[in-house]
Amino acid sequence: MKRLSDIHGSLYVIATPIGNFSDLSARAAQLLKEVDGVYAEDTRTSQALFREIGCNPAVQSLHEHNELERAKQVVKRLQGGESLALISDAGTPLISDPGYRVVAACHDAGVPVVPVPGACALVAALSVSGLPTDHFCFEGFLPARSGPRQKRLTEIAKWPHTLVFYESPHRIEATLADMVLCFGADRPATMAREISKRFETIRRSTLAGLAEWVAEDSNQRRGEVVFSCAGRA
Ligand code: SAM
Repeated sequence: MKRLSDIHGSLYVIATPIGNFSDLSARAAQLLKEVDGVYAEDTRTSQALFREIGCNPAVQSLHEHNELERAKQVVKRLQGGESLALISDAGTPLISDPGYRVVAACHDAGVPVVPVPGACALVAALSVSGLPTDHFCFEGFLPARSGPRQKRLTEIAKWPHTLVFYESPHRIEATLADMVLCFGADRPATMAREISKRFETIRRSTLAGLAEWVAEDSNQRRGEVVFSCAGRA
């Protein structure tokens, strides 16, 4: 069979599933089997993925704190003709995940960077939000503390396009409360929780409606979540 990674000296930026293993593409699986090495956000988390596809590549960690150092190493290996993959714990690398410094270093050195598209919580959530997607702003994670979070929300409250936020499970309620405060109770919003997992829940309402629903049902305060919110009308 023809190898997919026959272009030696390329960095493959590979999306992995955000919950449902079947979302890993055949191309992604084959490349992970063929490359000379994988750079992963968490080497232990990546083992579960490798077990599923039946491969055991040489894995090195790549996180915020070693990214610059790793960038030099990656470029050197690629210039030596190896093919390498970059993955994160889940979803598309670089999207609220490490990797951009490595990718920038590859571009600067003139070595090819190849995207291998797949799951991304941002795009999946937006695709079921029922909100306009011709223009949107991805805000990533808001500040963890309420003061800075409200400040940021106030800064963007008048933006007209759809706003998308990642949030950690233990801040779901507090962030919704701050959104109601800064954006108003009636803005249409969609909460996408546990996308592609057993307890997947997609709920479209107003910000106040979502806040009330989450307050009443503790299950809605668990798991991974993306908020999509209408821009100011
Ligand atoms: N790079 C990833 C991507 O492509 O989506 C995102 C990584 S970021 C560190 C993790 C955040 O993504 C979570 O806190 C949550 O907001 C969102 N997320 C990841 N998986 C999710 C899922 N299955 N359902 C809902 N949100 C998810």
